[in-house]
Amino acid sequence: MSESNSQINSQINSQINSQLTLNRALRVAVIGAGPSGFYAAEALIKQEDMDVSVDIFDRLPAPYGLVRYGVAPDHQKIKSVTRMFDRTISHERVRYFGNVEFGKDLSHADMRKHYDAVVYTVGASSDRSLNIAGEDLAGSISATEFVAWYNGHPDYKDFVPNLDAESVVVVGMGNVAVDVCRILAKTADELQAESDIADHAIEALRASNVKDIYMLGRRGPAQAKFTTKELRELTELSNADLIIDPADLELDAVSEASLENDNNSKNNIKVMRQFLEEAATAESPEPKPRRLHLKFLVSPKELLGDAEVNAVRLEKNRLEDDNGYLNAVGTGEMQDIAAAMVMRSVGYRGVPLADVPFNERRGTIPNVEGRVTDTEGNVITGEYTAGWIKRGPSGVIGTNKADAIESMQKLLEDVASLTLVENADADPSSVEKLLASKGIRYVRFDDWKHIDALELKAGEEQGRPRVKFVSVEEMLELCEPVT
Ligand SMILES: Cc1cc2nc3c(=O)[nH]c(=O)nc-3n(C[C@H](O)[C@H](O)[C@H](O)COP(=O)(O)OP(=O)(O)OC[C@H]3O[C@@H](n4cnc5c(N)ncnc54)[C@H](O)[C@@H]3O)c2cc1C
Repeated sequence: MSESNSQINSQINSQINSQLTLNRALRVAVIGAGPSGFYAAEALIKQEDMDVSVDIFDRLPAPYGLVRYGVAPDHQKIKSVTRMFDRTISHERVRYFGNVEFGKDLSHADMRKHYDAVVYTVGASSDRSLNIAGEDLAGSISATEFVAWYNGHPDYKDFVPNLDAESVVVVGMGNVAVDVCRILAKTADELQAESDIADHAIEALRASNVKDIYMLGRRGPAQAKFTTKELRELTELSNADLIIDPADLELDAVSEASLENDNNSKNNIKVMRQFLEEAATAESPEPKPRRLHLKFLVSPKELLGDAEVNAVRLEKNRLEDDNGYLNAVGTGEMQDIAAAMVMRSVGYRGVPLADVPFNERRGTIPNVEGRVTDTEGNVITGEYTAGWIKRGPSGVIGTNKADAIESMQKLLEDVASLTLVENADADPSSVEKLLASKGIRYVRFDDWKHIDALELKAGEEQGRPRVKFVSVEEMLELCEPVT
C-alpha cells in the first residue's frame, strides 16, 4: 500500500468506528473525468477500511479531460497516463457515465438525491482575457480555443483559426504558449506522423500561410514560465528558425542572481545562451520557411484593425525590483507588429456550475482543503472539489494526485457526519433509471473502450498514434444501446 493510501486509512479508521451502520457501499459521484476526477476515484477505492462505490460523470463521451483535449498531440508519451486511469475506471466499484453534463442532464438536486457525497472535478474550460481594446476583433482568439480545436474537442470542431495569416502573435510565455507556437511552426507532415492531432487541424495546417510567429513575454527571459524541455524543442524545429535577440540575454543583476534559486530559469537561460552561441558560430544555414520570434519585455496594449485584427500595439517594458520580485513596468515606447491572428495564452479559467458556489475573482469553487464552502466560507456538508476547479489552472497532471488525495481525505474524515441518501436512491441502478427517464444517452466505459479501439486501429492503418472521432453524434452511434 502506498504511503498516501495508508495515510488515508489511518485517518478514517476512527471515523468508520463511529459511523452510522452502513449496510451498503458509500455512494460518491465524481463530476468530471479528467486527471483530478480519476485521482479522486482512485483515492476512494484504494483505501481499505470501507466500501465506496464511485460513479464518474463527464459531459463528453470520451474521458481523460485535458489529457485528451489539452496536452499537445505531439507529446504522446504524456498521454500514456490514461492507462493508469483505465485501471481505476475498470475497478468493480467504479462506473463511467460519459455524455452526461452536470447542470444540464443531471442537476445538483439529482446528485444530492442519489449520492452520499459529490466531488466536483470539472477543470477550467474557459480562459482569461487581456482586457485591452480590440480584443473582440475577428482573428483575436484564445489558446484555449486553438488547443481544443487541434485536439479534436467536439465543442470546437467547427472553429476556424485564421491560418491565412502570415504573421501570428501569441501572448504569453508558459508551456501552453510554447505548445501552440510549436504546432504552428511544425509541418503538417511532421504533425500527422507523430501525433493524434485532429484530421481537420492537419488539413487546415497543411494549407497554413504562417511565416512569422511571435511569442510575447511581459518580463525577461529569466522570468519566462516555460520549462526547459519545452524550450529545447523550440531550438530543434526543422521547419522554423528560432529568433532570440542576444541583448535580451544580458540580464540585469537581480535577474542573474534569481537564477541561483530557480533551476528551471537557470537551465532556460543556459539553453538560450548556448543556442545563440551555436547560431553565431555555425556556417550560415539555409533559412527555414518559418520564424519563431521570442520577444521579451513587451506588453500588448491594443489590437488594431477594423473588423479584423491586423496588428498588435506593444509597449516595451523594463523590470523594476520590488523586494526581489521583478515587475514589468511600461516605458512608453511603442511598437506595432503586423498580425492577422492574435492568440492570448494568459491562463485558463473555471466556469460556474449550476447551484454550486463559485468564486468569480479566482474562477474556482470556494473550498477549504477540498471541502466546498459557500461564498461566506461555511462548509457545505457532502460536497468536495479537486483539481483545476479547486485550486486554479496550475500544475501538471501529477499535481492533481496529491490535490485529490487531500480532498478525499476530508471526505473520508467526514463520513460520520454525511447525510446519507435513502437506500433505494443509493441503489446503483437508480441513476441509470433516472438517466433513461430523462432520455439521456450515456456512454459506458465499455462503449468508450470500443471507440478507443477504433481510433487506435484507424491510427495504426495510417501509421499514426490514433485518429480521433470529433463528433459526439458519431461517437454515440458507435455505442451499444443501453437496455
Ligand atoms: C494546453 C495544455 C497542455 C498541457 N500539457 C500538459 C503536459 O504536457 N503535461 C502535464 O503534466 N500537464 C499538462 N497540462 C496540465 C493538465 O492537463 C492539468 O493539470 C489537468 O488536466 C487538470 O485536471 P482536471 O481534472 O482538474 O481538469 P480537466 O483535465 O480539464 O478535466 C475536467 C473534466 O471535467 C469535464 N467537465 C467539465 N464540466 C463538466 C460538467 N458540467 N459536467 C460533467 N463533466 C464536466 C470535462 O469535460 C473534463 O473531462 C496541460 C494543460 C493544458 C491546458
